[in-house]
Amino acid sequence: MDLVEYQGKQYFARYGLPVSPGEVADSVADAVAAAERLGCPVVVKAQVQVGGRGKAGGVKLAGSAAEVAEHAGNILGMNIKGHTVHRLWIEKATDIAKEYYASFTLDRSAKLHLAMVSARGGVDIEQVVEEDPAAIARLHINPLDGLSPEAARNLVERAGLDEQAKQGAAEILLKLYKCYIEGDADLVEINPLVLTTDGQVRVLDAKVTLDDDAAFRHPEWAEMENLGESSERERLAKSKGLSYVPLEGTVGIIANGAGLAMSTVDVVSQVGGSAANFLDIGGGGDPDVMVNALKVVSLDPSVKATLINIFGGIVRCDDVARGIVKALEQVDISSQIVLRLDGTNAVEARQIIADRQSDKIVTESTMLSAARRAVELAGANQEKGGSHS
Ligand code: GDP
Ligand code: MN
Repeated sequence: MDLVEYQGKQYFARYGLPVSPGEVADSVADAVAAAERLGCPVVVKAQVQVGGRGKAGGVKLAGSAAEVAEHAGNILGMNIKGHTVHRLWIEKATDIAKEYYASFTLDRSAKLHLAMVSARGGVDIEQVVEEDPAAIARLHINPLDGLSPEAARNLVERAGLDEQAKQGAAEILLKLYKCYIEGDADLVEINPLVLTTDGQVRVLDAKVTLDDDAAFRHPEWAEMENLGESSERERLAKSKGLSYVPLEGTVGIIANGAGLAMSTVDVVSQVGGSAANFLDIGGGGDPDVMVNALKVVSLDPSVKATLINIFGGIVRCDDVARGIVKALEQVDISSQIVLRLDGTNAVEARQIIADRQSDKIVTESTMLSAARRAVELAGANQEKGGSHS
């Protein structure tokens, strides 16, 4: 499980690593309120599970509430390497003198832990790795020996950190190693680790990958899975070859073809609803495609009704119908499904659905009426206060 930055920082904080105060915000108003509590200047940071946010415009310094509002408005909804930003981290800004890099990860081929430290951290670390690998000091660590204060100090020396940062950085390495080991992480990375203008060494970014196999001894991880959840759906969709993008509404969308999926999302908002996702099942005819699609959509707790919109061409509607029937048996589908099938073999398909006689499925003959129905059902289900029947 990959944590987003603020979760990683909260994890670090448990091990005494020096992170800056900050607050989560899911809207512009929340961001401004958080900044007012923290006191400007603050940094407005996109919370997505991908690096390079800074270069993509997802990390901005704000000196006033107005700037916070401006940056938050720009960053929320931004797409960074395929990840839509739904959440921000508003952090008290730090005055940076130097940016370093530090990480621990598992070197599987060496069967040892690997520490890496560099005096040339920051947003260009990938370039440093390529152009000047010697700028990164490495140390293999036997898990039985652990990391000694001397070894940490030596690593910092070899990395060529500034004199006034050495002590603080070595202490941070020891805490970070403890976090990596006791926290059951596969990766902990700080980039940048900074020397502030007033001589402190602090953690300004956090990348943490937790070892899923260790989840049984970390009940506290459950509370962090909220954000991981959409990525779990995304991972499942990806592994099944479905093109899936989570959105913020309540109507799950499944359609064939990117164009039809997009217009379905549009029609749903036209009739006053909001799509919970975009999902294109593509052009394959295998009924399992629909099983997988319904699996992905049903994993989303915000889905209150699902709209399946298929225009049969290469995809045959009867295959889709068989897939839906199969899904009803295999998948825990919590909300109602509104189905609109048209095109190749639609008549057979409707018969297959009718024969199944499921009260989970409502059929509609046009895209518009189907969208209306789905939005209506989603609204009713939401008022009822839950998706589980
Ligand atoms: P990433 O691009 O996804 O790795 O995001 P980071 O959290 O590493 O931020 C990118 C860059 O923003 C950092 O390398 C810093 O140069 C800058 N930055 C982040 N936080 C601060 C801050 O508190 N003050 C200042 N001045 N710059 C910051
Ligand atoms: Mn970074």
